Amino acid sequence: MILVLEKGIRAKQKDAILRVLKTEGVSALEFAEGGRTMLSLKVKAGQDTRAIEALPGIAKIMTLPTAMRLVAHADGREPTIVRVGDVEVGGENIVVIAGPCAIESREQALAIAAEVRKYGAVLFRGGAFKPRSSPYSFQGLGEEGLKILAEVRAKTGLPVVSEITSPSHARLMARYVDVLQVGARNMQNFELLKCVGRLRNPVLLKRGLSATIEEWLMSAEYVLSEGNSQVMLCERGIRTFEPYTRNTLDVSAIPVVKRLTHLPVIADPSHATGIREKVSPMARAAVAAGADGLMIEVHNEPDKARSDGAQSLLPEQFGSLMRDIYVIAPVIGKQLDFDYLEKRRTIARRAPRAKRRKPKAVYFGRIGTYSHKACVQFFGPKVAAQAAPSYQRIFEQVKSGEADFGVIPLESSLTGSVHQTYNLLLEYDLRIVGDITLRIIYDLIGHPGTTVSTVKRVYSHPEVFQQCREFIERQGWELVATQDAATAVKTVKARRGRTAAAVAPREAAAAYRMAVLERGIETNPRNYTRFGIIGAKPLTKGPRRKSTLIYATEDRPGALLETLQVFAAGGINLVKLESRPIDGKPWEYMFYVDLEADAESKAFRPVLEALRAKTDFLKILGCY
Ligand code: PEP
Ligand code: MN
Repeated sequence: MILVLEKGIRAKQKDAILRVLKTEGVSALEFAEGGRTMLSLKVKAGQDTRAIEALPGIAKIMTLPTAMRLVAHADGREPTIVRVGDVEVGGENIVVIAGPCAIESREQALAIAAEVRKYGAVLFRGGAFKPRSSPYSFQGLGEEGLKILAEVRAKTGLPVVSEITSPSHARLMARYVDVLQVGARNMQNFELLKCVGRLRNPVLLKRGLSATIEEWLMSAEYVLSEGNSQVMLCERGIRTFEPYTRNTLDVSAIPVVKRLTHLPVIADPSHATGIREKVSPMARAAVAAGADGLMIEVHNEPDKARSDGAQSLLPEQFGSLMRDIYVIAPVIGKQLDFDYLEKRRTIARRAPRAKRRKPKAVYFGRIGTYSHKACVQFFGPKVAAQAAPSYQRIFEQVKSGEADFGVIPLESSLTGSVHQTYNLLLEYDLRIVGDITLRIIYDLIGHPGTTVSTVKRVYSHPEVFQQCREFIERQGWELVATQDAATAVKTVKARRGRTAAAVAPREAAAAYRMAVLERGIETNPRNYTRFGIIGAKPLTKGPRRKSTLIYATEDRPGALLETLQVFAAGGINLVKLESRPIDGKPWEYMFYVDLEADAESKAFRPVLEALRAKTDFLKILGCY
């Protein structure tokens, strides 16, 4: 149940509402949407809410009909993760489904699949049965199209998505296709919904052309009520009075549906806009709004496409959109991983020492730290994440084979390289095999009922205090240092009362079931940390995009310039260059370099040889 509070409601009146909720034993989460303050209530089944509904200051009450009990967000229920082979939809990775509107030929499908896979799509789409507005338009290749889809999956390893238009096709579709799409025109075809509800395949349920959010969710309820809970909702634009686009992408439906249900949401900006040049801006907006994934139509010869050519991106345009999404995802705490499938599969294949155990990755600190988040986001659930008490122990464990991988911070966008971990990379003969960038947000966390004004003492890591200096200095609190930010939350949890708070990631509040008192108190919101993954062997067989090197030059004029000239002559782009003092040699420096090339490839060999000739010391820390 959601209470929409009156516009401009006074703090006193809101507090009165909160007090009644408390006495009624109803927990409330406050949020703002469209300039209005709202309270999302966790009401127990059968609870009489009339006293709450009658409170002054409430403009509107929104409830999900009890008939939607399976799709609704239940108390304490985790979001649903839909699994399609090695792909998980609804987790912290943005999942991209791409391919042509319709399968037109074997050559067309295989060529497009190779392109979209190259750019990071993890599922391939293509219609074999096409529900067209006109009976004279191309209707799809039928079973022949399904066979082509199965071949695409075998050749590229991409699971495939295709539309089911009739219950009579169920067995045929289930044989060839991984995800069954229920199209916009069939959203309220209840026999079809019941049919896919009885199948085992995950379902992509598109929103109908004129369906309200409740009608759409009710259709999902049909599928779940038949026993299939693997449902992804797909917002594909609704019909409005606006003729400039084919439909209107309802971006606001994304956060609404995310709050109302536990099901993942995919956005389809291709059908929503119908115009190629509008697809990428809307895709970026949908990800920023919280979509779990995208469905994008891509065609290698859109002018010759038999359907929806005008809205299909060219493969290179799709590639450039994927680069944008890669950058946007960390801003909202998610990731787009270009090597998602290959990485997941290599990790699964990597035989751990003891056959029965999952591969193990170690990180510094405890659950609820950003190191832990980096570990979980990079590896997914198939790798056991384990805490280590120090960076040195991470290196020791990976070296001895006790752990398969380690997760270490490499650099912060605010404070530069983490010298301690670079020193360990120099000391140990381990390799960087991957990297992941997280946006760092710190919240003020305490027991429920604590407010900024009741707090007197704050706990966290000194570096975290530093990053939140402006906010903290305004309050004049006593600061207490802890080993890491999650330990601070644990400490505050153990101390009762409303005078203590911790500064830590939101994940730590969730891990210790504590309340967020103030969101995002870090001084600079453009705060990112890049973590490196260390291991003994590379993670993928595919092309390695980046390399990290350390080198030292002679102490003479122009020595650094000469090394840079080697990169320039080789056409190598440097993405990082940083100097730091060499231990025991005052005023002599080492250079940390990241470059966009595989430094161990054959093509790079002449550059490497020239570089060795110009340096006293050179070590490749990893190519990934
Ligand atoms: C499609 O995905 O090709 C399609 C026909 O979509 P919709 O049902 O959203 O129109
Ligand atoms: Mn289409």
